[in-house]
Amino acid sequence: MQVPFIDLRVSHTSIKKQLEEAMTEVIDKAHFIGGEPVDQFEKKFASFMEINKCVSCGNGTDALEIALKALGISAGDEVLVPAYTWVATAGAVIRAGAKPVFVDVDPETYCIDPEKVTSHINKNTKAIIPVHLYGHPAAMVELLEIAKKYQLKVLEDCAQAHNASIDGKKVGTFGDIATFSFFPTKNLGAMGDGGAIITNNHDLARQCFLIRNQGQEKKNVHITHGRNSRLDTLQAAILNVKLQHLEEWTQKREEVASWYDKYLNGANVVKPHVKNGVRHVFHLYVILAEKRDALKSYLEEQGVSTLIHYPKPLTSLTIYPPQDQKNYNIVNDLSEKILSLPMYPGLKEEQVQYICRQINQFFEAS
Ligand SMILES: *Cc1c(COP(=O)(O)O)cnc(C)c1O
Repeated sequence: MQVPFIDLRVSHTSIKKQLEEAMTEVIDKAHFIGGEPVDQFEKKFASFMEINKCVSCGNGTDALEIALKALGISAGDEVLVPAYTWVATAGAVIRAGAKPVFVDVDPETYCIDPEKVTSHINKNTKAIIPVHLYGHPAAMVELLEIAKKYQLKVLEDCAQAHNASIDGKKVGTFGDIATFSFFPTKNLGAMGDGGAIITNNHDLARQCFLIRNQGQEKKNVHITHGRNSRLDTLQAAILNVKLQHLEEWTQKREEVASWYDKYLNGANVVKPHVKNGVRHVFHLYVILAEKRDALKSYLEEQGVSTLIHYPKPLTSLTIYPPQDQKNYNIVNDLSEKILSLPMYPGLKEEQVQYICRQINQFFEAS
């Protein structure tokens, strides 16, 4: 059996007609920047997130950079970032002119560990970026307490966690501001790039609005330094259709995860932990396995594609100054063992059973 890591066709087939209609409308109007679909998406996404404001932009990386600038982060500032995340989280800090300071992660959720945060705080520390990695919410309640005590701004990177929540409250609504990516493979994905920033703070929203549009308050009135970062009209029209299906797709991901939980032998691998009261939206289903590289090759031979998110913690990338590795035991250990199994809405129970059988067999044979 061949099982791809992801197959985006499955979730698009059933809504192809709606997507075509939405795209045709954009083509017929020939209005390709801004306009109604973009305004509509910002309203709909804010309402879905139960938050005041949504400012759309070009992608999730821009969203992070714009949000950091809106928060006033600049040269000389330090920003706390988990040592395990997609490189964009730290890259945005650099682009804002500040310094990313890496914090080790919680060994169960793989998100930034609140207990390890305070030792990295100094007088230059201005903000913290919790990343809801793989779709599991970071420990927002604990992190907000720390942020309050040390007067840090909180920017939630929700690129992997659309629709995740803690005690029913969606992630992205805990901090001062939050960012999303609509890269095609994310839980809510466009057919190209897209991103958004959400906040309850009107001043921050206004700042983001200005920065993403050349600092323009209105045409040719520039009141700050900005840049161009826009959600295309066509992508907004597509996202308006797809947002209606996000809850259904989230439930499908949860169902796939429940099959993995059922068929994987916990004696062989560590399955994802889900903390009490949180909704894990399984952007990725990540297991820990000894002999990970051999298992990965074995699965490839059996037709199962897997990936590693990410082969190296940020603390091992040469683009950053060398880090004191003794502070990063958890990420260093994880990087040897993590393996992302196929995960997408529409993956079938037989396929998951097949994958789990291969994994169980690999360990039984060795
Ligand atoms: C995907 C991702 C981003 C960046 O989003 P793009 O739209 O690709 O720029 C940022 N942070 C995390 C955690 C991501 O997974």
